[in-house]
Amino acid sequence: AARAAAAHHAKQKAEAGELTIFDKIISKEIPSKIVYEDDDVLAFRDVSPQGPVHIILIPKDRDGLTQLSKAEDRHEKILGHLMVTAAKVARQEKLDKGFRLVVNDGPDGCQSVYHIHLHLIGGRQMKWPPG
Ligand code: IMP
Repeated sequence: AARAAAAHHAKQKAEAGELTIFDKIISKEIPSKIVYEDDDVLAFRDVSPQGPVHIILIPKDRDGLTQLSKAEDRHEKILGHLMVTAAKVARQEKLDKGFRLVVNDGPDGCQSVYHIHLHLIGGRQMKWPPG
């Protein structure tokens, strides 16, 4: 319940155009363990890992993408770039037996940070269905 309430609060802030903690990670105001960076995308280790490898991939420019459900045609390039980068990072992390790529969207999806991101999780056997 507390997580849902916090997520709801975060959503309201994001929709008002407020920055999220990921903006401070992009600006390096908050330190993070960066595993990949280019002009458009940043990938860093999740502070609360759900597996031996847990990496967050984000666009540096949120461009209205607080969450995947806001995606428009103009976002195709960056969304594709995030997916290809996830595959590159998975190879870099030697996740040769596979991995899971997750996008949490909105309260039902348990999203807590309203700056679109991919979760790359691996290094252990995943279960299906997810919780
Ligand atoms: P969401 O629940 O899909 O929105 O995922 C947000 C993720 O960001 C969670 O897995 C958090 O553990 C992670 N996270 C939040 N703050 C930080 C941070 O400062 N550094 C790294 N990861 C973070």
